[in-house]
Amino acid sequence: MATARCACGEIVLTIAGEPNATVLCHCKDCQRRTGAPFGVGNYYTPDQVRISGSPKVYERGTDSGNRMRNFFCPSCGTTVYWLAGPALDRLGVATGTFDEPDGAVPVRSVYEARKHDWVDTSCIALRYSLART
Ligand SMILES: [Zn+2]
Ligand SMILES: [Zn+2]
Repeated sequence: MATARCACGEIVLTIAGEPNATVLCHCKDCQRRTGAPFGVGNYYTPDQVRISGSPKVYERGTDSGNRMRNFFCPSCGTTVYWLAGPALDRLGVATGTFDEPDGAVPVRSVYEARKHDWVDTSCIALRYSLART
């Protein structure tokens, strides 16, 4: 059981089980969402995650033509989680919002065309290949 929360604590997620994947994303939307050079999210099925609090929603389109919903705290602005995928059934939790590091390491690094030159993801490619063997 893991917990994740926004900066002020109004939005709290209680998460059961392991993530399906942890993904590092360099797209411009993740850069703007986080204010950092890339975003990192742990992906779950929605039934693994219990949500308390009343987040606001920011919905946007994606390059692949799907919708994406970011859920953020109206008081402190932290985006704690989002729904993605064609059926909006992949629940991503911002890795930085966990109370304790859960030990999950990224298996993929995506949108590298937008990657800042100084960010080195070679270790992630290695972990991906190890995870697949
Ligand atoms: Zn908050
Ligand atoms: Zn992204």
